[in-house]
Formats: sequence, C-alpha cells, structure tokens
Amino acid sequence: MLLPNILLTGTPGVGKTTLGKELASRSGLKYINVGDLAKEGQLYDGYDEEYDCPMLDEDRVVDELDNQMTEGGVIVDYHGCDFFPERWFHVVFVLRTNTSELYKRLETRGYNEKKLKDNIECEIFQVLYEEATASYKEEIVHQLSSNNPEELESNVNQILKWIEQWVKVHNS
Ligand code: ADP
Ligand code: MG
Repeated sequence: MLLPNILLTGTPGVGKTTLGKELASRSGLKYINVGDLAKEGQLYDGYDEEYDCPMLDEDRVVDELDNQMTEGGVIVDYHGCDFFPERWFHVVFVLRTNTSELYKRLETRGYNEKKLKDNIECEIFQVLYEEATASYKEEIVHQLSSNNPEELESNVNQILKWIEQWVKVHNS
C-alpha cells in the first residue's frame, strides 16, 4: 500500500513533537524526530557558538533517511526544512503559536534570554513558513494554529482525514 510522507515544521516549541507522536499512534505512520536522529547518530559537522548548539550534518541526515522516505509512510519532525529533498514530502504542515503562549512554553524549557528572543523572533517573522514555501510547492504547504489542546485535537483529526483521503486516491 502506498502511504504519504508528512513534514511537521515550525519554530521550536510550537508543538511538532506532541502532534507528530499523537498522529503516528493514531495513523500507524512512522514518526521520525530529526533532532533525535542526529543526536543518536552524531550526525553533526561542527558547533554553532552563537546559538550554542551542534550543527546538523544535513547531507548525512538525508542519506540516513532516504530509503525510508522513498518507501513512504513517514512523519518527519524538524525546525527546518530547506535541506530535505523536495520529492520526499506529499504535504507540509507549518505549526504556528501566538507569541505569548510560545514564550511561556520556551521559558518552561529553561531557554536563556538570547535563545528565547531568537525563537520568538523566528515565530514573529514566520521564518519557517517562508522557508517551507520557498522549498516546496505552495499548494502542499499549510499552516496550522497550535495554541491550545483543542487546536491540537483538531489538527490531529484534520491530518488523519488528509491521510485517509491520500491513501484512497493513491491506492485505487
Ligand atoms: P516542538 O516539538 O515543536 O518543539 P513540543 O511538541 O515539544 O514542541 O511542545 C512544546 C510544549 O508545548 C510541550 O510542553 C507541549 O506539551 C506543549 N504543547 C504542544 N502543543 C500544544 C498545544 N496545541 N496546546 C498546548 N500546549 C501544547
Ligand atoms: Mg520537538
């Protein structure tokens, strides 16, 4: 059976992981967190002093995932999207969260002032939405509001319906 690949992207803290895991458990699709994958395989190629985090070795991440992505049925979670092959994804969801709500979530994570400010600006200037529309066909890029549990539930249901529809169309 043909299954779609879904990209969940957006600023850190918008709820990609929460949504991705819930979707995977309710759809049977496989969930891949690119940050965790990189950590496990040490897929890094340097350290970003300014942002105080290791730099992803994007080529190795792509190599690592390519076979699974070609098979289909994968939900990918990452706060970046311009280095994935365009052919991987059938749909891209950019999660969006209000500034005050996002601030609270990131503060709870213990982010320092600079990291807080950078991520809040990233959300205000819709950096990930623009990266997504620059990297994929606009008609497959959708924004999802992710401010509260009701929106989470509605996003899950909406994507489950999208999957069901995609599967029907591509397996008949
Ligand atoms: P990301 O993976 O995008 O960094 P997470 O899924 O880790 O974000 O979510 C960040 C925090 O926000 C977590 O504490 C999570 O429980 C909470 N959260 C995620 N989505 C929602 C939502 N729709 N409403 C309220 N809280 C949420
Ligand atoms: Mg996450």
